[in-house]
Amino acid sequence: MPVDRSENPPSAEALLGLDRAHVWHPYGPMPGRVAPLLVTGAEGVRLDVRLPDGERTRLIDGMSSWWAAIHGYRHPVLDEAAHAQLDRMAHVMFGGLTHEPAIRLAERLVELSPEPLRHVFLADSGSVSVEVAIKMCLQYQRSLGRPAKRRLLTWRGGYHGDTFHPMSVCDPEGGMHSLWGGVLPEQVFAEEPPAGFDAEPDAQYVAHLADLMERHASELAAVIVEPVVQGAGGMRFHSPAYLRTLRELCDEHDVLLIFDEIATGFGRSGALFAAEHAGISPDVMCVGKALTGGYLTLAAALCTTRVAEGISNGEVPVLAHGPTFMANPLAAAIANASLDVLTNPRLRGGVSWQQDVARLERGLSAGLAEVRGLPGVRDVRVLGAIGVIQLDREVDMAAATDAAVRNGVWLRPFRDLIYAMPPYPTEDGDLKEICGGMIAAAEASISAS
Ligand code: PLP
Repeated sequence: MPVDRSENPPSAEALLGLDRAHVWHPYGPMPGRVAPLLVTGAEGVRLDVRLPDGERTRLIDGMSSWWAAIHGYRHPVLDEAAHAQLDRMAHVMFGGLTHEPAIRLAERLVELSPEPLRHVFLADSGSVSVEVAIKMCLQYQRSLGRPAKRRLLTWRGGYHGDTFHPMSVCDPEGGMHSLWGGVLPEQVFAEEPPAGFDAEPDAQYVAHLADLMERHASELAAVIVEPVVQGAGGMRFHSPAYLRTLRELCDEHDVLLIFDEIATGFGRSGALFAAEHAGISPDVMCVGKALTGGYLTLAAALCTTRVAEGISNGEVPVLAHGPTFMANPLAAAIANASLDVLTNPRLRGGVSWQQDVARLERGLSAGLAEVRGLPGVRDVRVLGAIGVIQLDREVDMAAATDAAVRNGVWLRPFRDLIYAMPPYPTEDGDLKEICGGMIAAAEASISAS
């Protein structure tokens, strides 16, 4: 259906008709089976949404736009940074040129991240930063005269993005990429880490990791994992002790360690970076999502001087990667503003991010307690500003989404998981609404199936 250009602005029906005809949405068929909700604006922790019956409403965002909008929407400090940078330049190429927003951002990322990460490669998206991290590790091993070390080890239940190399280290069965066996590089998979952030480390699992590392050491370039929280692969939490085990095994076998902190970075799990729970540092670390407070797409792969020098003294002494929009100044300026807001309590109503995340953790724990043990509910878990209800069956997406929306909350469940990771400034009353929306979604899903 063509849009009547005399209409100003086009009607919601016309827009949704065009969306259905032309726009491919995440993890969906073309055309989509379920019409998306039309968002017309967002402010604070609320999205302005048009419902299918034409009614307009405001929904509390329980998802922070997939972990990204940690400060909520239209934050005055981030808006101001965007406007100020637009008045200077929106973009300039990064080959042979540089600029202050990128330089400051790299310096601050190094300052905030665990020692000894020192060098920053800015990339366009989380998946691309994982590609870069993997390329760094493979090239490091080649540069040191160890070309046979080109496989990766990870544990099951992970998610690292949708481009091909990241897909090869996503969970091979439960994940969204099981279709691609035979196409992707074959990596080495350990079993899922035993569940529970506070659980005592399981000696058998540690032995399993040690055994796999020993058997595959000669062909492994790196281990890649999401530290502490496995996100889109299943919203599972594990003990930081396993990260220390991986660090020791990597050192023992000349294997590099990559932490994918794209979801966990910038406070979400209760530590600025989840690696801090374990008191260790990886050789390469990926960040993205909340880096720009959810305003623009930007990610980074940070590495140590050992990795950077290994590559730069190698046979091909450059890292052959240079996206067109690398270090986009607008995104970098907003990222700097987002880090200001995160780290300066004066810009967040006198409250530190640690206090906000601890408050959200308490609120999610209290608000979700009542569904623990209910028929149909397998588990309820909370860590930092992440709350999860896991059902004993697939979520009925239509019933669950509808129930959450009727409760004034935006959620996006997947598989058997109804979960929320709200923006940090979400007030207690709104957090209660989010918990209510999650519970309503769980109940609707259970009674629909
Ligand atoms: N790694 C992790 C841990 C993620 O959660 C995601 C996205 O959900 C990615 C990588 C991919 O990031 P992007 O969607 O920005 O490509």
